[in-house]
Amino acid sequence: MSKALIVQWIEYKLAELKIEVRLLLRAHMKTPIENIPGIGNAYQKRLKKLKIRTLGDFLYNFPRDYKDFSKISKIKNIKINEINSIAGKIVSIEEEKSSRKKMSLVKCLIEDDTASIEVIWFNQPYILKSLKVGDEVMLSGKISINRYSVQMTSPAFEKISLKENIHTGRIVPIYSETKGITSKWIRYVLRTILDKIKSRIPETLPEEIIKKYNLLTLSEAIEKIHFPDKTEDVVQAQRRFVFEQLFLISLLNLKKRDELRKEEAPSIPINLPVIKRFINSLPFNLTPAQKKCSWQAMKDMERSFPMNRLLQGDVGSGKTVVSAIAAINTVKAKKQVVLMAPTEILTKQHFKTFFELLKNFNINIGLLTGKEDIYYSKKLKSDTIEISRKKLLEKTEKGEIDILIGTQALITQTKTKENKVKFNNLGLIIIDEQHRFGVKQRATLSPKNKIAHLLSMTATPIPRTLTLTIWGDLDLSIIDTLPKGRKKIETEIIENESKAYSLIKKEIKKGRQAFVICPRIESDEESPLKSVIDEHEKLSKVVFPDLKIEMLHGKMKPKEKEKIMKDFKNKKFDILVSTSVVEVGIDIPNATVMMIEGADRFGLAQLHQFRGRVGRGKNQSYCFLLTESKSKTTIERMKAMTKYDSGFKLSEIDLRLRGPGDFLGKRQWGMPDFVMSSLNNLEIIREARSASEDVYPVSNERLKKRLEAFEEKLHLE
Ligand code: ADP
Ligand code: MG
Repeated sequence: MSKALIVQWIEYKLAELKIEVRLLLRAHMKTPIENIPGIGNAYQKRLKKLKIRTLGDFLYNFPRDYKDFSKISKIKNIKINEINSIAGKIVSIEEEKSSRKKMSLVKCLIEDDTASIEVIWFNQPYILKSLKVGDEVMLSGKISINRYSVQMTSPAFEKISLKENIHTGRIVPIYSETKGITSKWIRYVLRTILDKIKSRIPETLPEEIIKKYNLLTLSEAIEKIHFPDKTEDVVQAQRRFVFEQLFLISLLNLKKRDELRKEEAPSIPINLPVIKRFINSLPFNLTPAQKKCSWQAMKDMERSFPMNRLLQGDVGSGKTVVSAIAAINTVKAKKQVVLMAPTEILTKQHFKTFFELLKNFNINIGLLTGKEDIYYSKKLKSDTIEISRKKLLEKTEKGEIDILIGTQALITQTKTKENKVKFNNLGLIIIDEQHRFGVKQRATLSPKNKIAHLLSMTATPIPRTLTLTIWGDLDLSIIDTLPKGRKKIETEIIENESKAYSLIKKEIKKGRQAFVICPRIESDEESPLKSVIDEHEKLSKVVFPDLKIEMLHGKMKPKEKEKIMKDFKNKKFDILVSTSVVEVGIDIPNATVMMIEGADRFGLAQLHQFRGRVGRGKNQSYCFLLTESKSKTTIERMKAMTKYDSGFKLSEIDLRLRGPGDFLGKRQWGMPDFVMSSLNNLEIIREARSASEDVYPVSNERLKKRLEAFEEKLHLE
């Protein structure tokens, strides 16, 4: 080695040492990877591709899988066709060029005190640089047998040293890799880092919580998730991380709930005589669940802080009546009500229902529609009348409109000042099928210095565990039984369409209508999935040339979509071919067949929603699920559809089989996959909740900061 090189080498080592000292003294989760010894420039770039920018990112880059190489056998006892781990000495090692040109073959003979075995690596000539005759090594890999001998092929390897082994002979972590970053490299660097800083990883959970709930400390958990000694270590480490995430979410929920409780709301007394009269005026008896939920809402509204309640119930379970009870009670206390739904058709549907239900109660109801600037208002008893928007807004502002119905956009996002909806004395906000409605939005509609009560309704069946977590700041009312006398929708899994087509034909002859759902809008050569456009053409030209068929999908303009739905409702055509856009609550009682192509592509909750589009009238209805997939999970999921008609039950099955993605969409809530998949574990969710109650209100400064950071991260996502 030349002098210059030696100098350079010494300088380099000194620099490395400096960084190492710095790291030892001041390592924290935000230390940039540039300051971590052993990670060169090229690696820094590649790590950034994996979104690893800091020491914390590196430590929290959890394995995506593990390989269990933990059973070390004597060479004499190895098992053919299985993964084995062996330890021994290299007797010989050399490269052999195979007959086919460029293929390199490293052949090696290993012996221990019982026997020897041949080991070969394909196309890894660099192995010769790290392994030499006489080296003690550990190898983990598959044993195969060929014509001549028993061989271990392309095993993971490492030299046995005083340090603990990390690549072989144990449970070995596997990471998401990118070009130039292998699991082996990550393991090596991680081991080095952990050896240096493990004892100084600051704990993020309060000590009493760790004790009470029997959790691993952060430092133990990080060690064990990367380098477990046994499978149970992984379980324990994951439990700690899951717990922590759920604990933080739960704390945030408590905080949100508390903040709302400090607000003032118009207190609304329960007007029993009116409620009784209303219930007696209904053409049916309320179900016990409806009674319970109405009561819960009214009890909430009696208080002087705002109600924040989620009313969950399957399609057709009768949520509207519950909201009408809350509404009438509010109006009789001389406060206004606003009801918002996602589409204009739905608002019209609600208007009609409220109009019918409240006919004899001397209540004014207004409907804001977007399109033709037509507004109705009604001093009830007979029929609706149209009034101008200007008049309707004036009446609303004066408090003459008791219940105003419209889409959220119409009510909250009106552009010009004169078009802005102002209430005189808003007491209750009801929203249908939109889970979130921010406190700020509530405040702008509410009377000065007050926040109106909120009743949010959804037919999306969300498993209870998820509701507790993601919507944990809301109080829950659940309608878990359907009104009596509903006919079960006959559901069948079929492999080809013929059976469904012949039933559709028969039903349409009887004057009914049918839905056909497809997973795609347009077809794609690479995808076997049925598309709306193709199916529409096939059905109208080939299968049912004499029927009237229309289509609906997300690429159409809102106006076109509304028109199609309206026409379908008015029986202007027989079959609607649609993508999943048809999902949200439209009522077409005359439709009796729901046929779903590529049914395995949809979540069970979603399939259940589709199915809920039929069976809304008095006629027997049918649902056909088409799937060619023979996968076990698919079959289990489809069978669940034929077996259960409760959306909650189905959503729980789907959560178990497919994880929470269907419910949460792409949003990850800052959680790694294993946290997401633990969202069906009621026990840990309960524990984390109770832990959050233990420490709330948070006084621990560090936890407070952590919570703030966590909240910010959620907002950024
Ligand atoms: P959803 O919960 O899907 O909004 P709706 O409120 O639209 O359900 O109710 C569906 C239908 O069931 C309506 O026609 C409604 O009049 C009817 N309904 C509601 N409650 C009862 C009941 N207790 N008994 C019988 N029918 C009911
Ligand atoms: Mg509804």
